[in-house]
Amino acid sequence: MGRCLIIGCGGVASVAIHKCCQNSEVFTEIMIASRTKSKCDALKDKLQSTTKTIIHTAQVDADSVPQLVELINNFKPDVVLNLALPYQDLTIMDACLETKTNYVDTANYEPLDTAKFEYKWQWAYRERFEKAGITALLGSGFDPGVTGVFSAYAMKHQFDEINYIDILDCNGGDHGYPFATNFNPEINIREVSANGSYIQDGKWVETKPMEIKRVYNFDQIGEKDMYLLHHEELESLALNIKGIKRIRFFMTFGQSYLTHLKCLENVGMTSIEPIMYQGKEIVPLQFLKAVLPDPATLGARTVGKTNIGCIFQGIKDGKPKTYYLYNVCDHQKCYKEVGSQAISYTTGVPAMIGAEMLMTGKWNKAGVYNIEEFDPDPFMEELNRWGLPWIEDFNPTLVD
Ligand code: NDP
Repeated sequence: MGRCLIIGCGGVASVAIHKCCQNSEVFTEIMIASRTKSKCDALKDKLQSTTKTIIHTAQVDADSVPQLVELINNFKPDVVLNLALPYQDLTIMDACLETKTNYVDTANYEPLDTAKFEYKWQWAYRERFEKAGITALLGSGFDPGVTGVFSAYAMKHQFDEINYIDILDCNGGDHGYPFATNFNPEINIREVSANGSYIQDGKWVETKPMEIKRVYNFDQIGEKDMYLLHHEELESLALNIKGIKRIRFFMTFGQSYLTHLKCLENVGMTSIEPIMYQGKEIVPLQFLKAVLPDPATLGARTVGKTNIGCIFQGIKDGKPKTYYLYNVCDHQKCYKEVGSQAISYTTGVPAMIGAEMLMTGKWNKAGVYNIEEFDPDPFMEELNRWGLPWIEDFNPTLVD
């Protein structure tokens, strides 16, 4: 069917690439291009004999628009799937505009020097993408990503209006280390050490980091402490889902993780302000990343499950209604299938599906869109098919 250029070859990309290779009817040719070409080559060596998908590899600096343009012009993909870091979103979007190529990512742009993630930078490309006749699909991971698809599905099939959404992200996995992050430590720690916030009646309400705590009993996992965080999909869902009064995001954290994080914060190790060290400028958080376990190595030792989903409250046929849509994913099952733990798996599978939606033309409108702005039905079908089946609960316990 088509050609996909995948940028980045880390934890999430590795899963997405495994899945593209399983889905070779759609992904007839892929190019894996990243900063470190040897990682791309190693993955090609592992997968090429198992798939009909033809795999190419290349080195690219995704901060450089000219390098990206050259790569895109040579390979001529139908879609560029950006699985590098949020810092590269805008350069990759610029290269897609210049070459008139569709774009998909899993995380919104974040400038390197301010840990503040919002959509304004990418939404500013809307008119230019419309004029070029190409699509940018923003946030096709799990959260953002599947949470947006779940919201669009709930809106389409279960509600006349949705007033409250609580997104619950539970990782019941255990990797046996006192402290490690499940995906890129820099991105993860920037996210959890930022102030929390939620949207109430159209306005952001800000909280201190980890200020709001709840306990929830998760299906197939049990009771966990969870904390309110700022999360990027709140911004787009509050605009795109009809009738929203409040939308919040909660993530579970164990006590050991929080104690370590507090200590690292207190000594200044999570700072993104550069400091001078032995005549060289270093960023403490980047140095911390270098000493922490590489998330890619956690897969083999992580046991347990993730449970991520959305609880909706709203109105159907004039009556109040509640509805919970979620997915449960088993770390070891993911590891056996693709050699990664469930955090990368739950992001990499929807990334592949997002690219598939554009390559098959099931989603086809020019401009820059968040995932909930498309018809959720074909995506929901593919979630069941490619390893992230969803579960419905029509009488869920609510979060107070
Ligand atoms: P990793 O750090 O494991 O991988 C990032 C990859 O990008 C690496 O291969 C890295 O290269 C490459 N890269 C970084 N900078 C450049 C550059 N300038 N040029 C070319 N390649 C570059 O991260 P993850 O796989 O964990 O995360 C990938 C993305 O997924 C992130 O944007 C993250 O925020 C997002 N994410 C989204 C989630 C969701 O649910 N929506 C959940 C989890 C993550 P190298 O190998 O040389 O380091």
